[in-house]
Amino acid sequence: MREVGQARPAKVMALLIIIKPKIVDPAFPTYIFRLKPKEEGIVYFSFIGYFTEQTTSLFLQVPKSRNQTSGLGMGELEIDKHVQYVLAVEKKKDDFESLVMEHLRMNGAYWGLTTLDILQKLGSVDQDAVVSWVMSCQHDCGGFSGNVGHDPHVLFTLSAVQILALFDRLDVLDIDKVSSCIAGLQNEDGSFSGDIWGEIDTRFSYCAICCLAILHRLDRINVEKAVNYIVSCKNLDGGFGCTPGGESHAGQIFCCVGALAITGSLHHVDKDLLGWWLCERQVKAGGLNGRPEKLPDVCYSWWVLSSLTIIDRVHWIDKDKLAKFILDCQDKENGGISDRPDDAVDVFHTYFGVAGLSLLEYPGLKAIDPAYALPVDVVNKIFFGR
Ligand SMILES: [Zn+2]
Repeated sequence: MREVGQARPAKVMALLIIIKPKIVDPAFPTYIFRLKPKEEGIVYFSFIGYFTEQTTSLFLQVPKSRNQTSGLGMGELEIDKHVQYVLAVEKKKDDFESLVMEHLRMNGAYWGLTTLDILQKLGSVDQDAVVSWVMSCQHDCGGFSGNVGHDPHVLFTLSAVQILALFDRLDVLDIDKVSSCIAGLQNEDGSFSGDIWGEIDTRFSYCAICCLAILHRLDRINVEKAVNYIVSCKNLDGGFGCTPGGESHAGQIFCCVGALAITGSLHHVDKDLLGWWLCERQVKAGGLNGRPEKLPDVCYSWWVLSSLTIIDRVHWIDKDKLAKFILDCQDKENGGISDRPDDAVDVFHTYFGVAGLSLLEYPGLKAIDPAYALPVDVVNKIFFGR
């Protein structure tokens, strides 16, 4: 509990009394806590903590009151324009961006829909149409492809499951079929291939573990081996690579730390060492880069920030400067967020910008879970049924 005290002093410590532990899977000692608001309606609380017997790693998300209108004191998030932008991207079928996105439309749909949900505007899409399109991308093997007529891959299977979770429609899935498909991608050394072609990457370990956890089917894989493989990709700088010996990269670190959080294995992470590497990603302008000597990019507001949140080291970066960097990347006229100020916007960076601001507790946004990459209320529903 020490780390919670550091992150949020007095007030939250008092609220910790009403934490309810819940064993997610008796096979390994992870507990998920739910923190209930003391006084409903005054402050909106969303809270999930990852806690194992070896380590306490709790993160808190206590968004400010939804009625609060001013941002973090450095400009406004153009919520309505971003909603219009995401809805327009979803409808367009023949411009450059949609052609590039065609084979990974499932990922695009996940980014766009999760953005809408964080902005509290998921109700503006036709839920039934999305769900039936998602299901039309499922293959006989149980996996999902990026679009109708393409090959299945674990990257798209996770997005499909996350989209269904957003709409609380996991009931349309044959859960055993999907989980068999994912379990079949695990290799003897614990690693995961992305599809039948066999490429191995810790990204695929994350996709498989996150997906199976959402489906309550982690028992279908060898979790111990999966964790050991991820740990074998840990580097001397505290970061993680895509395979053993691979260079540390923020995107890969998110995948590995996220998978370790979900499986209750965060004791394998050297939090101070990794926290140091991650907070060094912040450049003068306030943005974050993915590796030393690279330019800042809004998408790392997610990869770096979610990892820092999970290991409870967000206070090591300048949050206000990062929020300002993200807000400076908005297209204030037509909506959408780009990688860097004045570049062209896309739905990928719009999602990661909005998700980053959610982790920074920007007012008016739903809290996002840094490990499952879904709004906290959606994760609550998955694990607590409400
Ligand atoms: Zn980027």
